[in-house]
Amino acid sequence: MEEIPESGGHIAPELIADLAAASRILAAQGVVDAFGHVSMRHPSAPDRYLMARSIAPALVTPDDIIEYDLDSRPCNANRRGSFLERFIHGEIYRVRPDITSIVHSHSASVIPFGLVGVTMRAMFHNAAFIAAGVPVFDIRDKFGATDMLIRDGEKGLALAEAMGSNDIVLMRAHGSVACGPTLQTAVFRAVYTEVNARIQHWTTALGGDADMAALDSAEGELADAVNQTAGMRAWDLWRTQVRSQVSW
Ligand SMILES: [Zn+2]
Repeated sequence: MEEIPESGGHIAPELIADLAAASRILAAQGVVDAFGHVSMRHPSAPDRYLMARSIAPALVTPDDIIEYDLDSRPCNANRRGSFLERFIHGEIYRVRPDITSIVHSHSASVIPFGLVGVTMRAMFHNAAFIAAGVPVFDIRDKFGATDMLIRDGEKGLALAEAMGSNDIVLMRAHGSVACGPTLQTAVFRAVYTEVNARIQHWTTALGGDADMAALDSAEGELADAVNQTAGMRAWDLWRTQVRSQVSW
């Protein structure tokens, strides 16, 4: 039998509820559908993280949350199934101590930017963090023909390395990952990455080859700082909407 790692310790039920709510928020905002996931680093054990069992994000409840070590081995699965692609989370947490929350999605507007040589740029202030750069990970470069999934630690590490010091990475013909220093910021960034992609498609359709007056990196840094505080109004709205449907 495979060894079961020890838990990192007690977590406040409100935090577990917020993580469960984050799944439902991402589904309601069109970032995830039947697939995709959000995780949160353990608040007192940096070598542990929390993520729902393998289930559609809109259905997640606090009882679905499983704790993992950074090898993405469950501490308390109790026969609950794990997401195949949990290694995305474990490996990014391992190499990026500044990141506390990660969203992985296959949202449709973002995928084209991983398929053609057009760089995603920050179209408006809500997506400011994109101005720091958007690398594209191509699983084929290192692993040849695959089923495209990040289904082990080696692939997770390669993805984390492609992301580097950015807080976003696109995955060719698959999806994207958005991260943040808090759960709320990661959710905000994932939502506005999808919106930003739509705006860039419209801008391209409107302007053709004209210059795109996107945020530059200095503007991106300034606006992202605002998003991490004032932008939390969005979280309050979305969290309230989830609370109107469930008792947690
Ligand atoms: Zn995926």
